Amino acid sequence: MRFSILLSGFVLLMSAMPAHALTWEQALENLKQGNERYLQGITKYPRIDPIRRLRTATEGQTPVASVLSCADARVPVETAFDKGFGDLFVVRVAGNVCEMAELASIEYGALYLHTPLIVVLGHTQCGAVKAAISGGQDLKGTLPLLMDEIRPAVEAAKAKNTALTGDELEIAAIEENVRRSIAHTMKSPGIKSAVESKKVGIVGAIRDLKTGKIRWLK
Ligand SMILES: [Zn+2]
Repeated sequence: MRFSILLSGFVLLMSAMPAHALTWEQALENLKQGNERYLQGITKYPRIDPIRRLRTATEGQTPVASVLSCADARVPVETAFDKGFGDLFVVRVAGNVCEMAELASIEYGALYLHTPLIVVLGHTQCGAVKAAISGGQDLKGTLPLLMDEIRPAVEAAKAKNTALTGDELEIAAIEENVRRSIAHTMKSPGIKSAVESKKVGIVGAIRDLKTGKIRWLK
C-alpha cells in the first residue's frame, strides 16, 4: 500500500516535468556538433566538473537524448558526443538489442525525462553481430539467447543482398540490427505516439570504431 502510494507520487512527479527545451531536430544537431568537436580534437569536455556533478545530483537530469548503444568498452557514448553529467540517458547492452528491460529504459528516458531524441547507436566491428553471423550457438551461458535476438538482422541483410559476404555482410547486418532495435522501440505505444506526433525523433547511427565518427542512417 505504502509502496503503491510512493510509486503513484513518483509517477505524478515525473509526468509533471516540462518538455525538453530543444526540438528533436535541434537535439540531433546538438549531437552532430558534439561528435564533430570530438573528431576535430577540440573537445570541450563540458560539464564533467564537481559543480556540474553536484547540480545534477540536487536538481535532477534533463538529458538531450536517450541512446541505446552496445556495451563494448571501446564505445563510451558521452565521449563521442562531447557530453557530461546529465546530458545523455544511456542504455548499453551487448549488440544494442532492444528487449523488455532496454525498452522500459528508453521509455523512461523519452516519456518521463522527456528526451526529445532517441538514438540507436551500433558500431563497426561489433563482436555481438560478428558472433551472430558465424552462428554463435557454441557460446557459453545465455549468450546463444542473445544471438537469437541478433540473427534475424543477419538474415535480413542476407535477404536484401544474397551476394554479401565478409566485411560487407558485417556492416549490412550491423545496420539491420540498428533498424531492428528501432522497430522494437516503436512497439511502445507511448513512444510510437510521441514519434508520430513529432514530439520525439528516433534515428539510427553507426559509430566507426577506429575513427569515432558517427554515421547517421537515413
Ligand atoms: Zn558491439
